[in-house]
Amino acid sequence: MIINKDLVIVGAGPAGLAAAIEAKENGIEDILVVEREPVAGGILNQCIHDGFGIVKFNEALTGPEYARKYIDEAERLQIEIATNTMVQDISSNREVTTISPEGIRTYKAGAIILAMGCRERTRGAICIPGTRPAGVFTAGVAQNLVNIRNIMVGKKIVILGSGDIGLIMARRLTLEGAEVLAVVEKLPYSSGLQRNITQCLEDFGIPLLLSHTVTNIEGHERVKSVTVAKVNEKEDPVRGTSIKFDCDTLILSVGLIPENEVALNAGIILDNVTGGASVDENLQTSIPGIFACGNVLQVHDLVDYVSAEGELAAKSAVSYIKSIKTGEAEITVKAGKGIRYVLPQTISADKDITFSMRVTIPSKRKTIVFKDGEKQLKKKFFMALNPAEMVRIELKSHELKDIRGLEVYIDE
Ligand SMILES: Cc1cc2nc3c(=O)[nH]c(=O)nc-3n(C[C@H](O)[C@H](O)[C@H](O)COP(=O)(O)OP(=O)(O)OC[C@H]3O[C@@H](n4cnc5c(N)ncnc54)[C@H](O)[C@@H]3O)c2cc1C
Repeated sequence: MIINKDLVIVGAGPAGLAAAIEAKENGIEDILVVEREPVAGGILNQCIHDGFGIVKFNEALTGPEYARKYIDEAERLQIEIATNTMVQDISSNREVTTISPEGIRTYKAGAIILAMGCRERTRGAICIPGTRPAGVFTAGVAQNLVNIRNIMVGKKIVILGSGDIGLIMARRLTLEGAEVLAVVEKLPYSSGLQRNITQCLEDFGIPLLLSHTVTNIEGHERVKSVTVAKVNEKEDPVRGTSIKFDCDTLILSVGLIPENEVALNAGIILDNVTGGASVDENLQTSIPGIFACGNVLQVHDLVDYVSAEGELAAKSAVSYIKSIKTGEAEITVKAGKGIRYVLPQTISADKDITFSMRVTIPSKRKTIVFKDGEKQLKKKFFMALNPAEMVRIELKSHELKDIRGLEVYIDE
């Protein structure tokens, strides 16, 4: 039996919950949010540090506090959230197959919003040589064990990767009584926010080894030591620079990968750089009626913008369900010099659009420029640009009027 739904949302993290609330408030009654975990809230449930909601609510909430605001609102609006239920498959004609302890179900959705978040890169993905002892964890798994299950992961710890998750875990494990010997980063700069470098490392005297990587893991049943070495510009280890840390645990915080397996199976076109769907300004993917938002679309550093993306995806899904016509996204947006990616990838340019992007390397006193051919449409000056911080710039519809192409680049 196929069950009809106006809107099916995959994932009840902050993106999926914000989308569900926005759709309900815009008149869509028959909504199903599918969540594979036993509770809604997504990754926020294990992020017990504060720093969430500064943009949206003007206060520094913990992850669970931020999630709770959305869960309470979804409950008040009587939105159906199917927990312990996993979306197994999505077809290009918007059939969604789920699996749960109750069995397998198929839904036919008027529209679908993808909000599946990310998963972590593992040791296998970055090929660290050495033995295969216990004591090697990804940062998210360690965070889940410590913050949710009350299980300590180790006593003497080295962390590889200085993105926000690695930095936050360095502080968390220190507060739980572990000794964090070093945070090791292969790039010449940290890929975390400056506030996290200060509050999570400097305040606790934890060394940050830039341009270094782990070259070996030693130990049989349990990690006994890890060796790190300096890397050159090609990120190859430099002979004679090895340092051996006696430790029992290695935490890997080496990147997130959008969870897009069901999107790929549906035939949705993904962007090679972001790993998320290629979308237009309505966050519609290459399959009409399927939208994407949050970390499954692009990895975010601030949850406030995840929620904003969820709301935009919902507004667009509502228009689709109500058959309100939107412009054809025929204009391609190109990431030019110094810009790693820019989103959306295509636009129709008939409304105001907020573009989000990341730069390739840190720089100071630079201008980001939008141009159509040789014509400059907008310039915005930044005191500092950092790959860790997503840049968002709005262009008004009158600034985009009659354009034929769009390129975003950093003016030297
Ligand atoms: C350690 C850490 C620290 C952070 N610190 C901050 C901070 O200080 N401030 C801040 O603003 N932001 C912070 N962030 C970022 C922010 O938490 C994330 O950007 C945000 O939670 C992403 O929301 P999401 O809804 O896109 O994804 P998620 O929260 O990952 O939710 C996705 C949901 O989809 C579900 N799902 C996936 N696939 C399926 C499927 N096939 N079927 C059913 N369900 C599925 C998952 O179980 C999950 O619940 C942090 C993130 C991490 C990991």
